[in-house]
Amino acid sequence: MPLDWEDVLPTEQQIHEHVISILECWGDDPPPCFDVKWNFRLRTAAGRAILEPVLRVELNPHLLARHPDQFLPTLIHEMAHVLVYHRYGKGPKAHGVEWQRLMRQAGQNPEARHGMNVDGLRRKRRKFLYLHVCQGCGTWGIYRKLRRDLQCGRCGPGEFQVFRSIATREGLAQLQRKAEKRRTGS
Ligand SMILES: [Zn+2]
Ligand SMILES: [Zn+2]
Repeated sequence: MPLDWEDVLPTEQQIHEHVISILECWGDDPPPCFDVKWNFRLRTAAGRAILEPVLRVELNPHLLARHPDQFLPTLIHEMAHVLVYHRYGKGPKAHGVEWQRLMRQAGQNPEARHGMNVDGLRRKRRKFLYLHVCQGCGTWGIYRKLRRDLQCGRCGPGEFQVFRSIATREGLAQLQRKAEKRRTGS
């Protein structure tokens, strides 16, 4: 997120003006009533339309700050979902003919997927650590994977109790404390 993202992205007032003019172009009377919000938790989706329990359009500030020219197409895309729901309820397909018609009417290509570069926005796959404690003698080891093949040097093949934590320094310390506690039986 660039520090100046607020300069790049439209203000609440500007968004409101866009919404009014897009609704005008579709001409529903009464128009649907909905909010438009930035959702900082969106990753690679440019936006989404929430239909229940309240109508809401959520936009991805990370992605749209990088591609300010895609703000309007994204807003129209999500608003078209809201409008299809407003007119027809839940029946139509998400990107079906009704939605496509609205997109064309607003001067947009009715393409369901955006082509924006999402490098660095994908959710990182979480890594874990696995503590294995021998049920027989309390000997333990911490591994990056679940080890089904593990054998205790003293007890041979047997049952291991497994605990998982996130692979951070704190996660490791937590497992080590747990292992020591089990070994000393405190
Ligand atoms: Zn969509
Ligand atoms: Zn053992």
